[in-house]
Amino acid sequence: MSTTWHVLGAGSLGTLWATRLARAGMPVKLILRDAARLQAYETAGALTLVEHGAAHQYAVPAETPDAHQPINRLLVACKAYDAQKAVAQLLPRLAPGAEIILLQNGLGSQDAVAALAPQARCIYASSTEGAFRDGDWRVVFAGHGFTWLGDAGHPVAPVWLDDLSAAGIPHEWSTNILTRLWRKLALNCAINPLTVLHDCRNGGLQAHRCEVATLCGELAELLERCGQPAAAENLTQEVERVIQATAANYSSMHQDVASQRRTEISYLLGYACKVAARHQVNLPHLNQLQQRLISHLHSLGLPSD
Ligand code: NAP
Repeated sequence: MSTTWHVLGAGSLGTLWATRLARAGMPVKLILRDAARLQAYETAGALTLVEHGAAHQYAVPAETPDAHQPINRLLVACKAYDAQKAVAQLLPRLAPGAEIILLQNGLGSQDAVAALAPQARCIYASSTEGAFRDGDWRVVFAGHGFTWLGDAGHPVAPVWLDDLSAAGIPHEWSTNILTRLWRKLALNCAINPLTVLHDCRNGGLQAHRCEVATLCGELAELLERCGQPAAAENLTQEVERVIQATAANYSSMHQDVASQRRTEISYLLGYACKVAARHQVNLPHLNQLQQRLISHLHSLGLPSD
């Protein structure tokens, strides 16, 4: 019997992973927030994944964090700001040699989880797949993409990558996952906050090229100083390319703000500014951007952490 995939959080990415693994015959167990969410799920009876316009249901079994079955493999699919607290509740259930796969965007939450669970192997992921919830327990697979997984402390790939292949989850083992996460964070810092402050689609930043280029210069300096020179290479050109290629899209941060949802700012721009301060790198435009964004979030009554 293969190892059960415990999936913590049945939101967009959690559902996307749980349904594809279950469809391929892998044992999957959802871990939901509490008894009320479990009851709501059991009333619905299944997760729904909408793919290419067709909806399919998957009756993946679920439990609350205080269930007793030991956890050998945990896929953490909540937001970065929830990850540490959510995993802390499960510590007593982690089996010796357990593996934790972290799907969170940005940086900071992964290290916090790894520090909580030093006995577990923590694998960090960076994904370009896109999904959103269009109802409770119902997720639309909106953007086919790719997921890189890696372990900064241990380069050998785990055997369960075969499960991902069987489930049709496009992926690759990466020996430089931190570089990938830093690069994605830098792209996010150069684009997302400005789309919120200028209230525009990504393409709207074509009218603010100087501001974007100045931020890219500071972000590249930060990446060099914190030992990630590869993530700094041609950053401005890539940011411009992404702005052009995704011109019609609203950034994830813009979508969060427009829907009055908490953003992951502390794990994106906030993390970059915190690391800059730790390395004593002076990045005036990035710091000013953070202050403007925080003020803007406050003015909308949204949390700024
Ligand atoms: P989401 O749709 O908001 O889902 C998060 C889920 O976590 C929710 O279902 C929430 O439960 C659950 N949760 C939170 N705390 C929990 C706890 N203590 N116990 C159990 N469940 C808990 O978020 P998402 O869009 O999937 O994003 C997850 C991460 O992936 C983020 O860091 C995001 O940036 C990253 N990411 C997302 C995408 C995407 O396309 N969505 C793409 C790339 C990366 P409730 O339902 O009860 O609130």
